[in-house]
Amino acid sequence: MRYISTRGQAPALNFEDVLLAGLASDGGLYVPENLPRFTLEEIASWAGLPYHELAFRVMRPFVAGCIADADFKRILEETYGVFAHKAVAPLTQLGANEWVLELFQGPTLAFKDFALQLLGRLLDHVLTRRNERVVIMGATSGDTGSAAIEGCKACDNVDIFIMHPHNRVSEVQRRQMTTILGENIHNIAIEGNFDDCQEMVKASFADQGFLKGTRLVAVNSINWARIMAQIVYYFHAALQLGAPHRSVAFSVPTGNFGDIFAGYLARNMGLPVNQLIVATNRNDILHRFMSGNRYDKDTLHASLSPSMDIMVSSNFERLLFDLHGRNGLAVSALMDEFKATGKLSVEDDRWTEARRLFDSLAVDDEGTCATIAEVHGETGYLLDPHTAIGVKAARECRRSLALPMVILGTAHPVKFPEAVEKAGIGAAPQLPAHLADLFQRAERCTVLPNDLKAVQAFVGQHGNRGKPL
Ligand SMILES: *Cc1c(COP(=O)(O)O)cnc(C)c1O
Repeated sequence: MRYISTRGQAPALNFEDVLLAGLASDGGLYVPENLPRFTLEEIASWAGLPYHELAFRVMRPFVAGCIADADFKRILEETYGVFAHKAVAPLTQLGANEWVLELFQGPTLAFKDFALQLLGRLLDHVLTRRNERVVIMGATSGDTGSAAIEGCKACDNVDIFIMHPHNRVSEVQRRQMTTILGENIHNIAIEGNFDDCQEMVKASFADQGFLKGTRLVAVNSINWARIMAQIVYYFHAALQLGAPHRSVAFSVPTGNFGDIFAGYLARNMGLPVNQLIVATNRNDILHRFMSGNRYDKDTLHASLSPSMDIMVSSNFERLLFDLHGRNGLAVSALMDEFKATGKLSVEDDRWTEARRLFDSLAVDDEGTCATIAEVHGETGYLLDPHTAIGVKAARECRRSLALPMVILGTAHPVKFPEAVEKAGIGAAPQLPAHLADLFQRAERCTVLPNDLKAVQAFVGQHGNRGKPL
């Protein structure tokens, strides 16, 4: 499989190089040159497979030519073997034809484990073969950092540096990062906000001199391997609910458009999906596009669902590429316009095309808490604030009551106690058994000023298993 850039000017790469690449050299994002497409008979034959075996069948075409079948099978069995629930991604029924897909049974209790547990193992496999080491730098407002650290902690060939804004992530989120103590793991608390952290990551990718030749790898959702891993659970859920003999709808709490883009790909690969709902919080740039063809940058609003607090959605460019007939120059022109003006819209027929599949809703904090309370009242089930937004959007935007509606449960409620408390239901979520002693564990973290040179000097000093590069 070859991968091409959404802006059409960068060289095509194979899977291995895409795994190690960040943005394409033309500023675009990598996508498969040709999407594999499965027949209905083939999809039907996968019913009942264990998660890792289904994962092998869905993802095999994407890694073909780079990872041998036997290796890939072993890696997948290991990856999904660390999840706490035997079903890996169990479905819980909330209402009539309405289900939550629990994607928070992994080590860090958010759906990001599905991709980052795999990414860490794939990196280790590829880097061992190449006899190469890399440095990962990432910025996090919470979930990505812990999932990336958990996913890479056993990688001999990776040193990982995760920056979070000092004193601005929840205690559970911080401890999930800082209590993992390997010599290749480096938590940096930046005296600044999340954007400051992200800016320093971007600047480091743009000028890598401080790395003395060591390659820098991205773990945010611009990395194709993350999107790829997320395609699998759409197949897994739909198969359990009667696909491919009937269609299924999905409601997806969204920030960077990564998770929902994976659902869009699942549909283009042959899975019958009749509707995809973009569920956002007050940071609603995607809702503004889907409801009114206006993708314009707004200021950032802090919400009770912080993992979706974004101003622009990096993966949206991947959808734009398809909406423009995969014309990289057209996408490039649109993104230039967006950079200059902070706004973009597409031609009417392209927007109409998107609307055939996508609906959307923006849900504020009040609506989020009300939904947590509503569902708890109906069923006793406790939603995290991100998932609650998905439930609200599913209930408002649903096209067919006869078809199953699956809401992606993106996090465990214990990660976001503030929203649960504000919902006023008197129930406090508990840490699952494997994290029960989280508050007793030792922490390690370095506080640094909001200063690029200081951060880069730190990476240079510790980037080789704690020693200088
Ligand atoms: C990252 C995250 C999201 C948003 O996912 P995208 O891929 O950015 O759309 C939603 N919910 C939770 C809990 C997350 O951690």
